[in-house]
Amino acid sequence: MNATIPSTLEFPFPAPPPRGEAREVAPGILWLRMPLPFALDHINLWLLADGDGWTQIDCGYGDAPTRALWNSHFSTTLGDRPLTRVLATHYHPDHLGNAAWLSERFGCAIAMPQSEYLTAHAVANGHSGYGVAAISGLFRAHGMTAEHLAALERRGNQYRRGVPELPISFLRILAHDEISIGLNRWRVIPGHGHSPEHASLNCISMNVCISGDMLLPRISTNVSVWPVEPDGDPLARFLDSLGAFADLAPDTLILPSHGLPFVGARTRVDQLRAHHEARLAELVAAADEPHSAAEFVPVLFHRELDLQQRFFAMGEAIAHLNHLWHAGRLARHVASDGTIRFVRP
Ligand SMILES: [Zn+2]
Repeated sequence: MNATIPSTLEFPFPAPPPRGEAREVAPGILWLRMPLPFALDHINLWLLADGDGWTQIDCGYGDAPTRALWNSHFSTTLGDRPLTRVLATHYHPDHLGNAAWLSERFGCAIAMPQSEYLTAHAVANGHSGYGVAAISGLFRAHGMTAEHLAALERRGNQYRRGVPELPISFLRILAHDEISIGLNRWRVIPGHGHSPEHASLNCISMNVCISGDMLLPRISTNVSVWPVEPDGDPLARFLDSLGAFADLAPDTLILPSHGLPFVGARTRVDQLRAHHEARLAELVAAADEPHSAAEFVPVLFHRELDLQQRFFAMGEAIAHLNHLWHAGRLARHVASDGTIRFVRP
């Protein structure tokens, strides 16, 4: 543990593998990149040598372009070895979209945390407070315009587009579990705030951490309030979860779901903490009069937002405002028409 903490991030691999190819980033760990049909246009997947087969970490968005790429990987990258296990870090469609499809093809189990498994089913079926109407109700209370709400409702449930099938059984993994993959043991690092029970994986013997969406090198992880927990403080849980990454060995190679593999987890955690504190301070400064979350969105996002971006921006704005409210840095008022506003106390 004598390695010095890099003051800037180091990127040992300057470019991702070309589409349909794989790159070894550590012994027995292959990097695959898959497309996404969003502004964030890619996801990294990790294929781990595991005895006579492979353990696949995350699976890509469940659409035709990704499945076509998977089909070419079956005959090239995988060689004659099957997937013997699929592990999903969390329920989001770019991570879970092909899990049931891969599981069916190879007859292998899907390992994931229980909250992620259950949330996938709730979101896919729009029940238990995860439906579009519930989201629309939350955003209405936080001041979203009728025009934007109508666009959101027209868009409907997007989850099924990326997750056409869901598993109906799974292997449960828990925080701090040790999972054997090949000759190595990987410990589950729990993460909260981005999704209910995100599982990152750290291998001490190889100095490699698969961070999923919890630690990304260039963009900040989405942290949103959702209608199922409207008064929640997911930002506090997210910032708290980052502590486990700050405590990793300084020379740990971080394998993130988006962007390039990097070294410098502690530096990145410091950057993210500073980023969120700066956003929080901007909101406090702008809160001399009561404003709704929708009115605060331009304080946080200085650019035009498309519908998808506005959806996440609202969730992010409410998360930051709830955090300030819970910390006593802002007061929260609910008007007689249900509109929620925040102001400096
Ligand atoms: Zn995610």
